[in-house]
Amino acid sequence: MKTRGPKTLLDAVRYFADPVVCRDFLAAARWPNGVTCPRKECGSKEHWLIKTRNLWRCKSCKKQFSVKVGSIFEDSPLGLDKWLPAVWILTASKKGYSSHRLAAAIGVCQKTAWFMLHRIRAALKNGSFETPLSGEVEANTTGVGGKEKNKHASKRLHQGTGNAGKAIVFGLLSRHGEVRAKTVSDESGATLHPFIRKNIETGSDLLPMTLARFVLGWKMSMRTR
Ligand SMILES: [Zn+2]
Repeated sequence: MKTRGPKTLLDAVRYFADPVVCRDFLAAARWPNGVTCPRKECGSKEHWLIKTRNLWRCKSCKKQFSVKVGSIFEDSPLGLDKWLPAVWILTASKKGYSSHRLAAAIGVCQKTAWFMLHRIRAALKNGSFETPLSGEVEANTTGVGGKEKNKHASKRLHQGTGNAGKAIVFGLLSRHGEVRAKTVSDESGATLHPFIRKNIETGSDLLPMTLARFVLGWKMSMRTR
């Protein structure tokens, strides 16, 4: 995630006062290979820009989308003219930045600034402005590939059951039907934690209980942060 542009806070506030600048800045950060339709089942790169409304219309699914759709900013009534200077501040500041300071710097109340800090920090940590899965999320691991006992003896890893010798796919499924999956080398917390952290919003309920051991560790670490 690259954030370029203004040199000082005053520059940043002026710079991001322009909705077109905000749109182009966030689009470049989110879609380095070109603007992409954020609808999960679409993902088309063909679109028209509706300049008067600062929106794109997808040529494939015909839906309109703003640069906020599918990002951590989508569900916030706050404009990018507030969000992006806040992102700039947190990217530029080497030391911690309090919600009181942020509130004063960009002109929002302290409660709002606290919420922004929380969200932006998570995004910077993940290296992505994309919305994490939220709500009730189911987690599961599945072995993919041939069973060991069906393979030729020379290709068997060892005699065993379960996922031995299979590629393990770890998947997260939200109640809205959104899926995130990846192939993992093992099912340890150290392997799965980073993927969960990147894809699930803090406070989401992760199921089932078989995964409770590392989820618990994950929630604890979120709380103490
Ligand atoms: Zn589309």
